[in-house]
Amino acid sequence: MTPNPLRLPDRLVAAAVPWILALLPALAAAAPPVSPPSAPTLLRPAQVWTADDQQLHRGWQVLVQGERVAAVGPVGSFEVPKEAQTVDLPELTLLPGLIDLHAHLFLHPYNETSWNDQVLKEPVALRTLRAGVQARETLLAGFTTLRDLGTEGADYADVGLKRAIDEGLIPGPRLFVATRAIVATGTYGPGPRGFRPDICCLPQGAEEVSGVADVIRAVREQAGRGADWIKVYADYGWGPTGEARPTFSEAELLALVETAHASGRPVSAHAGTAEGMRRAILAGVDTIEHGYGGTPEVFQLMAQRGVALLPTLTASVAISEYARQYVDGQTPPAPPSPRMLQSATAFKAALAAQVVIGNGSDVGVFSHGSNHRELEWMVRLGMTPLQALQAATAVSARILRQEGQLGVIRPGAYADLIAVPGNPLLDTAALRRVAFVMKSGRVYKAAR
Ligand SMILES: [Zn+2]
Repeated sequence: MTPNPLRLPDRLVAAAVPWILALLPALAAAAPPVSPPSAPTLLRPAQVWTADDQQLHRGWQVLVQGERVAAVGPVGSFEVPKEAQTVDLPELTLLPGLIDLHAHLFLHPYNETSWNDQVLKEPVALRTLRAGVQARETLLAGFTTLRDLGTEGADYADVGLKRAIDEGLIPGPRLFVATRAIVATGTYGPGPRGFRPDICCLPQGAEEVSGVADVIRAVREQAGRGADWIKVYADYGWGPTGEARPTFSEAELLALVETAHASGRPVSAHAGTAEGMRRAILAGVDTIEHGYGGTPEVFQLMAQRGVALLPTLTASVAISEYARQYVDGQTPPAPPSPRMLQSATAFKAALAAQVVIGNGSDVGVFSHGSNHRELEWMVRLGMTPLQALQAATAVSARILRQEGQLGVIRPGAYADLIAVPGNPLLDTAALRRVAFVMKSGRVYKAAR
């Protein structure tokens, strides 16, 4: 029997239980989300990119009412309420807030602290407070929505972080969280490789499971505790020499996807090998993360089945930089590392196969708030700036099943809006200088 923490007579507790249960939904709803300004806001930028078409619209304005966009169009094309507050954004381009579908707010760059040391030595409270600071940096950099793909050993703290943001305790992007993520026993880290077998119970970077029944239990538990997405590692470096190999059997992956989908949650699969990708795709996952070892055949299969790719190009760059195998911004340009060549080849093959490509950077491996680097790499490796912007707005919103709600400036969509100098449809570097950020109709960064 569970101990009674309040030391009330058991009879009294038993009598109170139905009342407490009846109150629970009301308590859950009691904390209101951040309230948007009550007066409507009229935004007057130099030009607007709505993500609904391929061009900038000079002289367009956007009316925000509550947390949503009420109207967008040329001056005079819609009525502006008398009480509306005007925000002038001269010389700036207004566009939808950016989306990063592969983030780790609970990690910080590996050149500061290794992944092993973050998971083994940093208390969850420290990691959570740091995640809050990093959430703010991310929002102010123009990323108004993140899919956070696993706390890497910080348990379910992402669910609490998301709630703190939603309740207005701290500023941060809209979060879709994956909680602990799911790995096959013995395949992830820290250890068992490199540790004595009698060092018992190392904290793990994700939840270890084995067998169909255990897979189903873990999905249900993570869903119950607040996961919006289920993240699974379909392969990892557990081969005899540390090389990546498929982790789960096809039966385990099928059970995982079936259970997650039954609960209304999509599945994200980490996969860096062609065989890991193939198994995950055939099992019905919704997104593939990294895909560095993808072959043209595997990308064709992804395109056929509508499975989206999050290329995480910046992770390859950052890890190569930390290993001193690559220097960015050097003249003449430094040659790419073997790791970067592999991810670049895969990205180009995915583009050629017309795979749906969203924006996912693996930020956390590198500094939060510099998520824009991923768009720059997508352009360096073959996308147009327009395609990269679409990937980070409308396409990523579709992958999140938030089409028309996020990643677009359209009546009825959330008023998640940013403004940058210059023309981001011609030069992605404009995204380094985000001058204005609004989320759900509230201004978090005002243009000077
Ligand atoms: Zn990741």
